[in-house]
Amino acid sequence: MTRLLFQGVEGESDPTGLRAPSFRPSSGERVGEHELQQSKLSADDKLREECGVVAIHGHPDAARQAYLALYALQHRGQESAGIATADGQHLANIKGMGLVSEIFTDDVLAKLPGQMAIGHTRYSTTGDSALLNAQPIRVDSTKGLIAIAHNGNLVNLGNLRARLEREGAYFQTTSDSEIIVQLIAHSEAATLVDAIADSLGQVEGAFSIVMMTRDRIFAARDPRGFRPLSMGRMKNPGAPDTIVFASESCAFDLLHAEFERDVLPGELVMVTQDGVTSRQYASGVPQASCIFEHVYFARPDSRIFGRWVQESRDQMGRQLARESGVSADVVVPVPDSGVTAALGYAEEAGIPFRFGLIRNHYVGRTFIEPEQRVRDFGVRLKLNPVHNLLEGKRVVLIDDSIIRGTTSRKIVRMVRGAGAAEVHLRISCPPTISPCFYGVDTPSKRELIAANNSIDEIRRFIEADSLAYLSLEGLLASVRDEKKTGYCTACYTGNYPTQWVDVADILPATATI
Ligand code: SF4
Repeated sequence: MTRLLFQGVEGESDPTGLRAPSFRPSSGERVGEHELQQSKLSADDKLREECGVVAIHGHPDAARQAYLALYALQHRGQESAGIATADGQHLANIKGMGLVSEIFTDDVLAKLPGQMAIGHTRYSTTGDSALLNAQPIRVDSTKGLIAIAHNGNLVNLGNLRARLEREGAYFQTTSDSEIIVQLIAHSEAATLVDAIADSLGQVEGAFSIVMMTRDRIFAARDPRGFRPLSMGRMKNPGAPDTIVFASESCAFDLLHAEFERDVLPGELVMVTQDGVTSRQYASGVPQASCIFEHVYFARPDSRIFGRWVQESRDQMGRQLARESGVSADVVVPVPDSGVTAALGYAEEAGIPFRFGLIRNHYVGRTFIEPEQRVRDFGVRLKLNPVHNLLEGKRVVLIDDSIIRGTTSRKIVRMVRGAGAAEVHLRISCPPTISPCFYGVDTPSKRELIAANNSIDEIRRFIEADSLAYLSLEGLLASVRDEKKTGYCTACYTGNYPTQWVDVADILPATATI
């Protein structure tokens, strides 16, 4: 049975109006530890995005629209989800553990009235996968009742927290979202929108945020634009348009909303019943959008950072074929994320593309567990070889990453065990050598196989006949666009676009093989 946390309808903000404590999680809410450095990789040893966010303004059934949008963003987080709604007077919030469709039944959606909604789907890090840590977080602040949902990680939490505590802030959590709300509550700015702009200008790191008061929606991206956030519009004959925001544009398709534009890095957008207004709260910072969104995270049917993900992955595959072609009989993707790059590779190399590995899509979350024992079992549960396509063949296997190497070895063994004569593994991005501090769950450097071993050592470990990665230059060429979008490539280079990173985690690691 799905567990839900229901924060009942409230019409009043903090009646005391006191500034300290300037923030309290409302209705018994408590948010758990921020665990930036801890990692829980999934059964298939992939890096995991931590969140997807959505917002809806001006729809009579905003909760259901948010539900549909979250449904399309389920790949960005499968452990918990939440929707908060507002009707001009009241603000309700329901969160639960599990998949969006499991939590938000018709009965649950009926408890979320209003024309505005924000939503969140979450993949949490080790130890904090509790219901109480799901988002949106609804808070009473001295600026009124605010619901907030956040994708990304702040990297200057310690400094900000210390300063706010000196100013009298009383923290009940260590979440990024509470820092932002505390900053809003402590801002000297006269209006809420000024206070939000003031607060966002003080935080460093990655954030795509949606916020809601009783009568307004806000959407913002950090100045470097790490995480994607798009804006769309639904036409309502004879009525104002519905404005929607989502982490990825694929969410708009399910709503029949038109993609309008990306929220810009450093932009704060406000939507009221009078329309959409926007301001740049930060400018002059070089863009550093997460290139791994194009490699793996985002859906290929999404347009992010001004570019179709499908197009980027196709180019990565083609470039990979040009850089490290090999004589072979078939190109086989590691499903699902390797499929688009494999199609590009096969076409460029002139080698037949075949689905030589079949993924079981019905493996439950029961098997998304961190223990090695379960992970071993998980690979065989998730993938199965098509023997007649592989037998006696020289196979080029296309995948999008090698993290620890253990899963890649199992897949190579699986293909060889099905009778392949040769197995050549090609990876559609450079070696992952450094952890991410910007909202992606990454193991520590000592666990990243490419941080500690040469490519030939990795090849021997995974037992492939050959191994090659896409070059950094090749990856950047694959996502190049007319706007000259700037990308973060820190997990491939160790060059972080922000100053605030955990030095201990980027020190040289010892060999693990
Ligand atoms: S470190 Fe890697 S995963 Fe993290 S934001 Fe940068 S490119 Fe993306």
